[in-house]
Amino acid sequence: MAEPNFTYRRDGFPLCPRCEEDEVYSMVAIRATEPITLEAAFKEEFRCYRCSWQGMIPPPVTCPDCEGRRQTYRIACGPDGCDTGYSPCSLCGGTGLISQTQAERIQQAKPIRDERKSRGVSLMEEAKRLGVKASEWSGIKRGDLPETPEGERAWQKRLKEIKEKDHVS
Ligand SMILES: [Zn+2]
Ligand SMILES: [Zn+2]
Repeated sequence: MAEPNFTYRRDGFPLCPRCEEDEVYSMVAIRATEPITLEAAFKEEFRCYRCSWQGMIPPPVTCPDCEGRRQTYRIACGPDGCDTGYSPCSLCGGTGLISQTQAERIQQAKPIRDERKSRGVSLMEEAKRLGVKASEWSGIKRGDLPETPEGERAWQKRLKEIKEKDHVS
């Protein structure tokens, strides 16, 4: 079966290929009497409630930050001192899952961040050099898709820079 041409929202989850409904995953309603795996749940075709498009959608993957536990342990410091405790994982929004697209981009972003730190350059300075807003660049490094052409150009430029560096060393 041919892979449909998905477009993706910023966090990498696909839109309905026909009507661009952005909550395609809300189609996923599984009736089961026992817990089932993601792989099993996503083996079925899904149907869009708006336009009735039917097909396979890529399953999400386990969040690399909380490793599927949905929350992370944090230390937060403010004017009244520090506090510790669990809070919902900010990467996956407390769902324990992220999109495949986002997971792949996080993998790609890691050497990009490491290389920047090895030069002693801050994220703000790097965003300035690349001609992209720091807030957008920070999102891109967390696996978000770029919002602007500047963001996309900055991402492509960094991928190229890292690749060239790899060839030299
Ligand atoms: Zn649809
Ligand atoms: Zn998470």
